[in-house]
Amino acid sequence: KHFPLRRGARSLLGGGPRRAVHAVDDVSLRLRRGSVTALVGESGSGKSTVARLLAQLYPVTSGEILLDGRPVRAGRGRALRAYCRHVQMVFQDPFASLNPVHTVRYHLTRALRIHGRAGDGRQELERALAELLGQVQLTPAGRYLDSFPHELSGGQRQRVAIARAMAASPRVLLADEPVSMLDVSIRLGVLNLLRDLKERLDLAVLYITHDIASARYFADETLVMYAGRMVEGGDSETVTQRPAHPYTRLLLSSAPDPDRVEGTGGGADGRDDEALPADADPSSVEPPSLISPPPGCRFHPRCPLAMERCRTQTPPRFDLDGGQWAACWLYDTPDAADAADTAGTV
Ligand code: SF4
Ligand code: MG
Repeated sequence: KHFPLRRGARSLLGGGPRRAVHAVDDVSLRLRRGSVTALVGESGSGKSTVARLLAQLYPVTSGEILLDGRPVRAGRGRALRAYCRHVQMVFQDPFASLNPVHTVRYHLTRALRIHGRAGDGRQELERALAELLGQVQLTPAGRYLDSFPHELSGGQRQRVAIARAMAASPRVLLADEPVSMLDVSIRLGVLNLLRDLKERLDLAVLYITHDIASARYFADETLVMYAGRMVEGGDSETVTQRPAHPYTRLLLSSAPDPDRVEGTGGGADGRDDEALPADADPSSVEPPSLISPPPGCRFHPRCPLAMERCRTQTPPRFDLDGGQWAACWLYDTPDAADAADTAGTV
């Protein structure tokens, strides 16, 4: 039911095998079935790393992953295969994730076979293929099954990639910027499809995006990441209407139009490296390097409200009303002192 990930990760990026980089740190999250959790942040914030950790594409070097309350033994063999079946991933670029020399039928048949769902005989297989394409609203199936990826639109390709993930009948779907490379006009359709699947199949969806406006529209819960740490969380309505963390406020103020629901945020080219406006320190508008992040609150070089302690002390999570929380010293009121104590310094 719950799916928390706790602290620590080593990324394979940014160094040779001996140079471990702590790409994300003290990350803790819980995915619920029948619910979409958005993980929002700039490019380089570590949000894709969180998805890859959950997909077991990167090793978790400290901490643990629980599935249905039971720890998942990282690693190998049958346990890993079972886990990977339950936790499927959809990537940003549907063209890169589908093999251009193979048809839709090939991709989906292979996935069904891997997960033992191809059935016995041709008829059962055809039924399973039609059902998968029906789930992603590509009907009639016959029109798509023998197509190659380049014969499909971007949106259709992403639907095929989603269908392939669904072939495993997963409980968790990790969707890393699933619409940011798609044409603006079709983004909403793909997000609505994911929402529909979440509801019908009781899926836990992790929706990774740089676009906080789409999180508000699409996600039940929203988590905000900055420089490898989670800085704010709560239900999407609260986080986007009453953002507590200065970084979340900055993200919202730089979102092109918060009332827009197309799931856009960037240009139609879908790059996820939109520049944020310079604020406190114009020389430091780039997200900090994860190899040597700033001490204390990692946001302090850009924070207009930074205080002395922010430069040296890492803020713990402070609980606010209604399940919202923020990792920011602004909320270190006498009331919040207990929360600070139990969270400890990290
Ligand atoms: Fe700004 Fe300090 Fe809060 Fe960090 S802890 S966001 S620097 S006020
Ligand atoms: Mg990414």
